[in-house]
Amino acid sequence: MSIKQHYDLIIRNATIIDGTKAARYAGDIAVSDGVIKAIGRLDAAADTEIDASGLIAAPGFIDAHTHDDRLLLSDRDVTPKVSQGVTTVITGNCGISLAHSPVPDGAPTPPLDLLDTEGGWFRFQSFRAYRETLEAQPAAINAACLVGHTTFRVATMDRLDRVATASEIAKMRDMARESLASGAIWISTGTAYPPAACASTEEIIEVCSPLRELGGLYVTHMRNEDDDIVDSMEETFRIGRELGSEVVISHHKCVGTRNHGRSPETLALITKTMGRQAVGLDCYPYIASSTVLRYDRLEQSSKIIITWSKPHPEFSGVDLEEVAKRLNMSRADAVEAIKPAGAIYFMLNEDDVQRILKFDDTMIGSDGLPHDVKPHPRLWGTFPRVLGHYSRDLKLFPLETAVYKMTGLTAAKFGLENRGVLKQGAHADITLFDADTVIDAADFEHSTRPAIGIDTVIVNGTPVWRDGKATGARPGRVLTRAHT
Ligand SMILES: [Zn+2]
Repeated sequence: MSIKQHYDLIIRNATIIDGTKAARYAGDIAVSDGVIKAIGRLDAAADTEIDASGLIAAPGFIDAHTHDDRLLLSDRDVTPKVSQGVTTVITGNCGISLAHSPVPDGAPTPPLDLLDTEGGWFRFQSFRAYRETLEAQPAAINAACLVGHTTFRVATMDRLDRVATASEIAKMRDMARESLASGAIWISTGTAYPPAACASTEEIIEVCSPLRELGGLYVTHMRNEDDDIVDSMEETFRIGRELGSEVVISHHKCVGTRNHGRSPETLALITKTMGRQAVGLDCYPYIASSTVLRYDRLEQSSKIIITWSKPHPEFSGVDLEEVAKRLNMSRADAVEAIKPAGAIYFMLNEDDVQRILKFDDTMIGSDGLPHDVKPHPRLWGTFPRVLGHYSRDLKLFPLETAVYKMTGLTAAKFGLENRGVLKQGAHADITLFDADTVIDAADFEHSTRPAIGIDTVIVNGTPVWRDGKATGARPGRVLTRAHT
């Protein structure tokens, strides 16, 4: 009598979409020690068996664009993401990271307040300190962490309305080098926001120069996404070339009515540039954006909804028109009266969103803002919305492509080894979902409703989501670059 192979976990009767864009196939997946040991028709036994009949088994989704630096510490179940099937988040986007913390106390400069309006979480004097804290109190999911140029600026400079001096640049470069040596994957910038808007191209190249030795990745919320978007793209490409690094254009979009319909132009420029250097991009599947409340967005948006306000918390979820009415002032004056605050801006065009989502090299990133009182629904809905609304219902691309855009493509771009694919030897980050029912449930009214159709989420071999709720397990790790 032969002795059956025994594993920690077997997922049986799954329809496997492996994250490479290859066509789905039927099979079982065996896991031990957090790693996929075998895939196929398996005659084996396991401590835990999951019947995945009627379900897709995909690599756990990787959220290419998050602001979850603090959420991983303050809500370790990370429910907004786990409930969507996300098993890894890329944190520290748009130039904003918790490390190197600029202020031990006091209210952080916007947009750093997107992570914490009070400032108490900005207490990590190095990336190493942040990483050690996260590893000592792990979250349910994995994190690969960018460090942010804006955070460095706020930590280093006495005023932000100028280019950094040579000695300030040297300090920031040391922060970048130390962070990269301590496990931060890459660097992000956010020159669209006031604290970094005065940084010159040369300052950015100098601060990010430690990327050069790593053949790294430069991730950016560009200086401009409206009328001057092409100039900003050219600046991004130049920075990438000078750093010998790949670039990622964050949340690519064409902002404001005047620029609606420009995505064929921007995507053609990306395609052309790919002939000489590597370019990546991410996108969220909505026609509304969200960030801190900004006066300059008034004219570009058809509608603005307040997501939080420090002096006026009662306006969370209220249309700016209504806020202005209640305060008996103009919309512009109302903006000033309720700051610091956050908002949702309806300022994109559906055709552009679909064209960008469909572009071969576009990764899916939520850009969710987890600490907003009434957040943009992308925080809870991005991944099921791409799978259910855009792939299944609108047939924008096959399900295999949708999965690739949130798994294999993203892992390869960010250098996450043995993640984002289902294969023997890969880490067992696995999401089981129902392709017929998966859909986002969060909308602009009910912005924190968990998605439908996500059955089971497994991180490093351990289930973190079963039967519509968190299991309480916290097997998340801090992921580092493949070649270090
Ligand atoms: Zn951004």
